[in-house]
Amino acid sequence: MTDLTKLSAAALADKLTAGEASSVEATQAHLDRIAAVDADVHAFLHVSAHALDVAADIDRRRAGGEDLGPLAGVPLAIKDVLVTTDMPSTSGSKILEGYMSPYDATVVARSRAAGMVPLGKTNMDEFAMGSSTEHSAYGPTRNPWDLTRIPGGSGGGSAAAVAAFEAPLALGSDTGGSIRQPAHVTGTVGIKPTYGGVSRYGAIALASSLDQVGPVTRTVLDAGLLHDAIGGHDPHDSTSLAHEWPSFAAAAREGATGQVLKGLKVGVIRELPDSGFQAGVSESFRAALATMEAQGAEIVEISAPHFEYGVAAYYLILPAEASSNLAKFDSVRFGLRVDVPGGTVEDVMAATRDAGFGDEVKRRIVLGTYALSAGYYDAYYGSAQKVRTLIQRDFAEAFAQVDVIATPSAPTTAFRLGEKIDDPLQMYLNDVTTIPANLAGVPGISIPSGLAAEDGLPVGIQFLAPAYEDARLYRVGAALESLLVDSWGGPLLDRAPALGTNGGGR
Ligand code: GLN
Repeated sequence: MTDLTKLSAAALADKLTAGEASSVEATQAHLDRIAAVDADVHAFLHVSAHALDVAADIDRRRAGGEDLGPLAGVPLAIKDVLVTTDMPSTSGSKILEGYMSPYDATVVARSRAAGMVPLGKTNMDEFAMGSSTEHSAYGPTRNPWDLTRIPGGSGGGSAAAVAAFEAPLALGSDTGGSIRQPAHVTGTVGIKPTYGGVSRYGAIALASSLDQVGPVTRTVLDAGLLHDAIGGHDPHDSTSLAHEWPSFAAAAREGATGQVLKGLKVGVIRELPDSGFQAGVSESFRAALATMEAQGAEIVEISAPHFEYGVAAYYLILPAEASSNLAKFDSVRFGLRVDVPGGTVEDVMAATRDAGFGDEVKRRIVLGTYALSAGYYDAYYGSAQKVRTLIQRDFAEAFAQVDVIATPSAPTTAFRLGEKIDDPLQMYLNDVTTIPANLAGVPGISIPSGLAAEDGLPVGIQFLAPAYEDARLYRVGAALESLLVDSWGGPLLDRAPALGTNGGGR
């Protein structure tokens, strides 16, 4: 019998529709896979006790002739930043240990309504601050390609779950790269939609002007199917766009036919320094561009002089917004409370925040509070906002000349656990190519471009498009994906060595 965990979500959904497998079987296969490998990978913080019941209900409804959506019965992993009524939501923090939300995030509610089966909550850097999941209060996730390496962050759990075949689909959130950089280092596909394209309601806020929820999957088509299910206007999120989005699954299917590359103008950024990029990452990037060129795409050098200042601006804007958003963890309304006998309310608050927040979160609260304080506001926060505007202008000028911009998704392949944990600046520099899209609000996709020659680890290529043009990313991503998968003789993930392709163990 086919191993149901090895199928793409689209292929699994076809089997369910054709009656060749049940959702209970598919869900059980993924729960078995989690039981076999998650002690090593640690992608999940919580595995749902209700998954089989939900799957059985879908099977019953299907048997009753109900018209279910395209992903009905397919298991889904959910980043712990998204609140859920039937599982704890901690955002990777001790301060929210065991927290049960009274409502579901909109993307979770829409996934349930579409018949997907929530498998569990995935590990992440605390409050989505980080690039390695090492800042999780519950211990790091490990990269299924090499268990001594990081799976990226902050959404390393979602990417690792998908890469390790523990789930065919996962939800992530991306504030500065937390969907795309984990996708890059695990050989998966990740999309940060246009800001406002997917609801943030029930996504525990990191930096509200940057946060976007999006899919993490093994194929571009699967990402399109999930995006179709979760996206669109939500009255609960005031920044949600009232826009008629096209079908992203249809865009991916159209892209896979390959014709879309003919005459496509692909911008590469002149100012992006070659230094700082691992040789194998640059080589894989250039090879992917050559593949596109061979199909009639035109590679155009563009100038985006402010792109490289994104990291500096981001690390003022993000801490400023995060320090405000995290003020609500006050020992009164949510989660942890550390009692201080004879202490004041302020003492309790301070003791709770001291015990409940990890070092990286504290570092950013201090940075953000400082950047917003009287006398420094203009010098720091104000200047960063000006840089943000300049980056938006760079994008506007670039997109007047090209259809998409391409960059490597991150500067290096997966680094080793512990390698950057004591060097925050090195950790921050991971996101040099992903951050500008968040600052400008434009959509970005990372798809696997191959393995780096020197270490055999996955590399991703990122495409950026103008706001509202997410469908273009699905077309272009699917076109390149189908060419590359053909050239590899099968999906990249079939070659991940750490977990084998036929079961658990190292
Ligand atoms: N790594 C970046 C950070 O630490 C991005 C995080 C994210 O996108 N949530 O802030």
